[in-house]
Amino acid sequence: MLGSMMQMPLLISSLLMHAERHHPEQEIVSRRVEGDLHRTTYRELAGRARRMANALTARGLKMSDRIGTLAWNGYRHLELYYAVSGSGAVLHTINPRLHPDQIVYLADHAENTILFFDLTFLPIVEAIAPRVKTIKAFVAMTDAAHMPAGSAIPNLLCYEDLIAEGAPEFDWPQFDENTASSLCYTSGTTDNPKGALYSHRSTLLHTLSAALPDALNCSAGDCILPVVPMFHVNAWGIPYVACMVGAKLVFPGAGLDGKSLHDLFEAEGVTMAAGVPTVWQGLLAHMQANNLGFSTMRRTVIGGSACPPAMIEAFEKTYKVHVVHAWGMTELSPLGTICSFKFKHKELSVDQQLALQARQGRVLFGIDMKIVAPDGGEVAWDGLQTGDLQVRGHWVIDGYFKGEGNNPLVRGWFPTGDVAKIDADGYMQITDRSKDVIKSGGEWIGSIDLENIAMAHPAVAMAACIAARHPKWDERPLLVVMKKPGMDVTRDELIKFYEGRVARWWTPDDVVFVDSIPLGATGKMQKNKLREQFRDYKLPTA
Ligand code: AMP
Repeated sequence: MLGSMMQMPLLISSLLMHAERHHPEQEIVSRRVEGDLHRTTYRELAGRARRMANALTARGLKMSDRIGTLAWNGYRHLELYYAVSGSGAVLHTINPRLHPDQIVYLADHAENTILFFDLTFLPIVEAIAPRVKTIKAFVAMTDAAHMPAGSAIPNLLCYEDLIAEGAPEFDWPQFDENTASSLCYTSGTTDNPKGALYSHRSTLLHTLSAALPDALNCSAGDCILPVVPMFHVNAWGIPYVACMVGAKLVFPGAGLDGKSLHDLFEAEGVTMAAGVPTVWQGLLAHMQANNLGFSTMRRTVIGGSACPPAMIEAFEKTYKVHVVHAWGMTELSPLGTICSFKFKHKELSVDQQLALQARQGRVLFGIDMKIVAPDGGEVAWDGLQTGDLQVRGHWVIDGYFKGEGNNPLVRGWFPTGDVAKIDADGYMQITDRSKDVIKSGGEWIGSIDLENIAMAHPAVAMAACIAARHPKWDERPLLVVMKKPGMDVTRDELIKFYEGRVARWWTPDDVVFVDSIPLGATGKMQKNKLREQFRDYKLPTA
């Protein structure tokens, strides 16, 4: 017997319709490429998304067409999130920090038909326009007054002209909720990037779960500033969550430095932000140097790479901002786990709570996880033993776009490539990427632990721990350190800093100081580049 309940497909357009009907006056503030601060509302967002959907449809947009974007976080990008996916086409958000050759590869692989871009990225578009195979029109996300003069880009259109030509009425089409909605490619450090093709259903279920109190904990009373880019896994789902709960949204545009962010936090009453540790490092350095605080910020979601405990402590103790440590992947839309306390943890001391927050946390409902040994057997959740982390769930890919990489699943589970341990309460902690693990004398040394310790030293701005060759132990840890400006620390002082903080055989054998540590397009340390750079490094212990 079937239940007698209404059937409504889970479609992204329903989020926008909800926001327009129930939170029409809620504000969306964007720092624009044009230089000013722009203010709009959910009502206007919905109206302009309808106009854009009309304009694109009139120009031949079809279901499942892939529409590319090269854009910062801003209201026009948000309009495209809804206009494109809501029409049944697929929004392909491209990371503009990638090399132009990679951008050409992605646009061709996705068979993009239109490319929208912020003016910042005009030089990239000029470079790739003669090379891409399927793009028929390029749209500059600006108004007529700011259109680039004399550009050689063929079929160059103006965003605001499209909005003006689209009629205001548009009935969002109803279709199968399993229809593809958006496309993000993995960073692809070694191979070509592979595409994760999300569906309306997976996105809606992710949105519902992501907003829960034990997850991002978002409500209509929040003012959310996603620093995490809308070109990196849909800004962790915040553009959808904000519409669902009716939160005020603040978009930082290209201003991601500490001062620009802090000014915006204070001016707009931001209560919650989300971003990778490297961005928060810039913010904290600016605040420390200028003796600043937060008036309204209450919590920040940190993920993308491990959040160093020293950063969690600074936010919690000095700035009274609660840190929500999260783990996810492009292949998971992206949220997998979030660290929030259980009832019994409220009794813990502040320092015990901080130690718990260094973990990546518990799964959201909708995701399951396990850690497995090399033989595929499940590893116990004792908080000690590590294994390869595998996941499955409603918003996990079951294959890459166009079948790249064949079938990635192992007996129905997605192997994440991360090494982790899980404790009896279900709190997961990433110890490494499997390819970054240091294998010393047959035992594994987790590089993230060693980096976190170095990051707790006041003179260290960034630290990466990589495997260096050793004749006896195969591999030993080598610590690569970037110092904070004007601060000093020696190799021996840093080695000594590990005493009592880690088992002796885990202590790095040597330290090298560098001017900068290479970061990838999503702010993660590129350890493969460091390994290459220090391939022939001779350890003093070797
Ligand atoms: P991406 O698909 O580019 O978002 O990268 C996903 C990878 O980033 C994961 O597989 C992890 O290796 C890493 N990652 C994401 N969040 C965290 C976190 N909180 N701690 C440690 N690693 C993380």
